[in-house]
Amino acid sequence: MTRRVSIFGATGSIGQNTLDLIRRDPEAYRVVALTGGRNISALARAAREFQAEIAITAFDECHEPLRAALEGSGVETAAGAAAVTEAASRPASWIMSAIVGAAGLAPGLKALEQGTTLALANKESLVTAGPLMLATAKTHGATILPVDSEHSAIFQALRGESMETVERVIITASGGAFRDWPFERLQAATPEEASNHPNWAMGQRITIDSASMFNKALEVIETREFFGVAPDQIEVLIHPESLVHALVGFRDGGIMAHVGPHDMRHAIGYALSYPTRPDLALDRLDLAAIGQLNFSAPDLMRYPALGLAYEVMAMRGLAGAAFNGAKEAALDGFLAGRLRFTDMACVVGDVIENMSGDRLGNAAITLESVREADQVARRRAEESMSLKQE
Ligand code: NDP
Ligand code: MG
Repeated sequence: MTRRVSIFGATGSIGQNTLDLIRRDPEAYRVVALTGGRNISALARAAREFQAEIAITAFDECHEPLRAALEGSGVETAAGAAAVTEAASRPASWIMSAIVGAAGLAPGLKALEQGTTLALANKESLVTAGPLMLATAKTHGATILPVDSEHSAIFQALRGESMETVERVIITASGGAFRDWPFERLQAATPEEASNHPNWAMGQRITIDSASMFNKALEVIETREFFGVAPDQIEVLIHPESLVHALVGFRDGGIMAHVGPHDMRHAIGYALSYPTRPDLALDRLDLAAIGQLNFSAPDLMRYPALGLAYEVMAMRGLAGAAFNGAKEAALDGFLAGRLRFTDMACVVGDVIENMSGDRLGNAAITLESVREADQVARRRAEESMSLKQE
């Protein structure tokens, strides 16, 4: 039986890895919607190759080039954020959520409303609107499967276990591009230097977030939202080899660790085949050749973003949306050369402190309230950045 699948963020790193898995078993899938942003040639190429029903770019000004590139292919085209979200209501039994940033939330929610299985790479959805995502899935009988490697690892370690027996969850962090840099050098780090991950090949934004550990901060919050564990049960461990993705500690003192190569196709393939395990013809780990695995505690002075994650979890409500919005604005500032690498956490910290008086914790979480908190946080981050530039 062929399965109808859609991929949101098809032109990105996760999207292309997902298409690679589908390409290996083309008879098994019917590709419904593929979405992208500005990379029109990649979107058109994938839409032609997989004979997608529809290809959508998130940006209106990219519609004409997309239409031209797909002329005569039989693939329908559309453009704009609303069209991307609308495409999530096209019937599909498996949908990959791999848009980067807060823009991934609305399509993911729309997908859940049709009771589908949502493979969730877009961690921002759970950070900004975790309770809304889970409630929407429950109401519509939809399933959310984690794709982030740490969360896929936790999910796999928990299979057959009861949450009451879980004592702690440990997610690992490589330490990012600057883990071996002296602390004093960090403030002069450039976007180019931060875009060079020691272990993983990923999109630029998540790679820079790995260097600053904003990525790990988002993942700590993602863990809290998805698995419902308390903040003080979540630990982060620096693990430079990035081979142990996460560990779950149980009440009897036993720990289940998930170990695997740095290849997102494992986590994507697991979500694509769930509940069965896929046969994946990918490289196998040779632990004897690797020889040793190292672990150490993160230094919060070096990685202040991690501390902010715990503040955000204590605030709850819309604090996650504000945190993510401020983080995205600060990252834009860093990419544009307006903000030093080490000032990103200062800006985000300022915004969170500044917004803590807005009763973020008490607000209802709806798509509208999340958008508003995101917008306010971005504005305040802009103000904070302007002050830093003066
Ligand atoms: P990429 O930057 O490689 O790809 C992002 C995708 O989103 C592209 O298809 C891009 O289109 C599209 N896009 C960008 N802006 C918008 C927008 N405003 N509206 C709609 N679509 C947009 O990112 P990754 O694949 O690395 O990451 C995707 C998500 O998965 C992120 O949330 C990330 O945190 C998460 N993730 C990624 C991992 C990885 O290994 N890469 C691992 C774990 C999680 P275009 O390129 O055409 O402009
Ligand atoms: Mg991850």
